[in-house]
Amino acid sequence: MADELHNATASDLASELAAGRVSSEEVTRAVIARAEAVDERVGAFLHRDAENAVAQARASDLRRRNGETRGPLDGIPVSLKDAIATLDQPMRCASRILENFVSPYDATVTRRLKDAGAVLWGRLNMDEFAMGSSTENSGYRATANPWDLERVPGGSSGGSAAAVAAGETILSLGSDTGGSIRQPAAFCGIVGLKPTYGLVSRYGLAAFASSLDQIGPMARSVEDTAVLLQVIAGHDRYDSTSWNAEVPDYVRALEEEPRRRRIGLPREFFGKGLDGAVRTRVEAVAEAYRENGFEVREVSLPHAAELALPVYYIIATAEASSNLARYDGIRYTRRSEGARDGIDLYFKTRGEFFGAEVKRRIILGTYVLSSGYYDAYYKRAQQVRTVIRREFERVFEEVDLLLTPTTPTPAFPRGDRIEDPLSMYLNDIYTLSVNLAGLPAISVPCGHTETGLPVGAQLIGPSFAEANLLAAAHVYLRDHPHHHERPPLA
Ligand code: GLN
Repeated sequence: MADELHNATASDLASELAAGRVSSEEVTRAVIARAEAVDERVGAFLHRDAENAVAQARASDLRRRNGETRGPLDGIPVSLKDAIATLDQPMRCASRILENFVSPYDATVTRRLKDAGAVLWGRLNMDEFAMGSSTENSGYRATANPWDLERVPGGSSGGSAAAVAAGETILSLGSDTGGSIRQPAAFCGIVGLKPTYGLVSRYGLAAFASSLDQIGPMARSVEDTAVLLQVIAGHDRYDSTSWNAEVPDYVRALEEEPRRRRIGLPREFFGKGLDGAVRTRVEAVAEAYRENGFEVREVSLPHAAELALPVYYIIATAEASSNLARYDGIRYTRRSEGARDGIDLYFKTRGEFFGAEVKRRIILGTYVLSSGYYDAYYKRAQQVRTVIRREFERVFEEVDLLLTPTTPTPAFPRGDRIEDPLSMYLNDIYTLSVNLAGLPAISVPCGHTETGLPVGAQLIGPSFAEANLLAAAHVYLRDHPHHHERPPLA
């Protein structure tokens, strides 16, 4: 194995474990030691329970000795975004309002990971309630980008991306409502996949915008992404929007050349506002596919590019204002002291413990849903959402995949955009429409800028085409192994 244990891929580790050359306890202790060495600077974790992780690792090693190994994730450390419930673990969504909350149950993805023998290791930092693109909206601490500690790791799953990039976990899960898996994956030089809406159960994911949210894998390679997706995907009766059909074999799909090979470059995703270095890198990806015999051509998605941002910020805030009403000072939460009555308690608690961005979203969402404005904003946005979805459907009659930059710029300096919400929101310009249309998309590392910052390329596919998406991503990284590069973090 070329890498140190904490920097290895899950698939390499699985073979080492199977061959008896390493134990889960050693792997787990390696990521724990790495987190102890670097997390003060990186800030990927909100909570770490090393003792508990080592106990899980020992149980995995025992299973292996008894010939009861549960599959490729058995004994592999996997860390979860703080919005995904794990029984008896703190779950704060990086919010002060959930400061003392401990989850009374496992999310479906958590349960599946436990059944697969994964070692659940720590709780990862995020923007409060997943609202943000830099992890600076965390109520606890900001996370740094392991490639340049002065820069943001992206968000809202910034802890999930930084922890994988820095070698503090082998795999992680994030959630993506408008880009929160793909954008931090791009900023941190790792792979991140947002599944088709309905492929992965949302049961136990704290809801932000329920019609957009999806949990997805974040990893160092496409193989690892496929292995993790395999475990978490599939029907769940606890999520009424869960897709009820057979899950394909994603890992096997990587062994074959992708069958559907027509790639579209949406012209509008390469326009003004796109950083030169990002453009160069993503155009090189298109060229690599061409050389590989893929058919690459220009396509157009005018509404997706133009209208995704306003539509997203109406629908996501509307849903958030409703979903976050449950944090009322009575259930779950900390409560404000000295309230006069129930209403006063509600206002005071929310006023004291929600951060500024969360309040901004609730106010926006309440506004767009209020009578007199509902038709002008919310209803209109739903109609345009349908237009965007149809636009993708049409383009997927012509091509099998779309290739775009994941983000308009590489990771920006910490503090740069936090005072300017619109410039922060603009970061997600290439990822938002994918959630509005419910489609799957993957961000893969495609090289660096001159100053050494990672750049991500996004591949988007039609609904439930994850196998082809992964296979295509795999072909690129097989020939251009940018995912083997690790940040210069001692
Ligand atoms: N950055 C976007 C937002 O702030 C998307 C966040 C997400 O995907 N959770 O809403």
